[in-house]
Amino acid sequence: MVYTYDTETKQSSVVYEANELATAVTDTIRYYREQYQRIAEENRKLKDDAYEFVYKQFQNEMDSLREQLRLSYGSFSSQKEKDRYLQFEKRHMHNRVESKANGGRRPYLIPTATGIGVILKVVCPICGESEDITDTEVW
Ligand SMILES: [Zn+2]
Repeated sequence: MVYTYDTETKQSSVVYEANELATAVTDTIRYYREQYQRIAEENRKLKDDAYEFVYKQFQNEMDSLREQLRLSYGSFSSQKEKDRYLQFEKRHMHNRVESKANGGRRPYLIPTATGIGVILKVVCPICGESEDITDTEVW
């Protein structure tokens, strides 16, 4: 590196020699390559975390929506079917409140479409008993 000063223009300048420039270029490339690799790695981790977070949220929301849908009047063809479901559920509590063994599962519905209407079956996830709760009056 050579430092020069022009007395006429009163300007100073630094002149690098070729090998110095080559080293500077190599160092700069290495620096930016390392920065790039570090950022790429951080980005990958952030994406993984973000994906997991969003996917968990999505699952929770879907569970909640399914539960709401299943218990809403819309899952049944009539109030009679909903009442039958609730009665079935009451008979199949199996100490559900006290025991976590069944994971808090509630009886689920199996709708089967036929040519004239939907047959609605309710199934207990604990003992496996099922019951046809179809209200054929609304067919
Ligand atoms: Zn049961």
